[in-house]
Amino acid sequence: MTTLVATNLSKQYPTRGEPLRILHDLDLELSAGENVAIVGPSGSGKSTLLHILGTLDTPSSGSILFDGENPFTMDEQTLADFRNKNIGFIFQEHHLLPQLSVFENVLVPTLASGKPTAADIERAEDLIERVGLTDRSHHRPAELSGGERERVAVARALINKPLLLLADEPTGNLDHENAQQIGELLLDIQRQEQMILVVVTHSQELSQKLDQQLELSAGQLTPLAK
Ligand code: ADP
Ligand code: MG
Repeated sequence: MTTLVATNLSKQYPTRGEPLRILHDLDLELSAGENVAIVGPSGSGKSTLLHILGTLDTPSSGSILFDGENPFTMDEQTLADFRNKNIGFIFQEHHLLPQLSVFENVLVPTLASGKPTAADIERAEDLIERVGLTDRSHHRPAELSGGERERVAVARALINKPLLLLADEPTGNLDHENAQQIGELLLDIQRQEQMILVVVTHSQELSQKLDQQLELSAGQLTPLAK
C-alpha cells in the first residue's frame, strides 16, 4: 500500500536577521485511501508544505518517503518522471493551455512519456465525463466558466492515476454551488481510486467533508477538533 511519510520537515528562508521559519519539524503520515484537509491562516506555510510534498520544492531539512523511497535523492530527470507518474496537482492558477481543447489539456500529462496511448484517451474521455464536461470536450479554456476550468484541472490531475493528489484551495475562486460540486467530485474520485488526497482549503464546509482536519500553525500540524 502506498504511504507518504514526512518526518521532521523544516523550511526556512534566510533574512537579514533571524531566518524566517515556515515549517518546523513537521510530521505527516498518510496511506492510500486517506484524505486530509489542511487549514491555517494565510502565510502559515500551507502552499509551501504542498509544494514540498509534491517534490516541487525542497525542505531545508527533514525527509519525505514515498513508499519508502526518498524522491529528493533522485536526479532531476528521474524526479520529473516520478512526479509526473505519481503526483497530481490541482492549484488555483491551473495553467490550462489556452490553445488546447478540454480533451487535449487533460491529456497533457501523458505527453511526457510520448504519445497518449489508447488507454490514456479512454481514461481522458471517462474523466471528462465524470467531471461533467463531455459536451465541452472540444471547447478551449476561454470558452469555459471558472467552475468548468477547475473541473478540467481536476481531470488533468487524475489522468496518470496518481497515488498522491494535492489540491491548493481548489474551490477558492468558485461560487458556493460550484465549490460544493468540485469538493464532492474530488472526494468521490479519491475514494473510488484510493489515492492519498491532501486539500488545503479556507472553506470549513469542504474541510469537514474530509476524513481528517489538520491545522498548520507555528510550522507544525495539529489535529483540529471537528
Ligand atoms: P500559505 O499558503 O499558508 O498562505 P505560503 O506557504 O504561501 O503560505 O507562505 C508561507 C510564508 O513563507 C509566507 O510568509 C511567505 O511570505 C513566505 N515565503 C514563501 N516563499 C518565500 C521565499 N521564496 N522567500 C522568502 N519567504 C517566502
Ligand atoms: Mg497558499
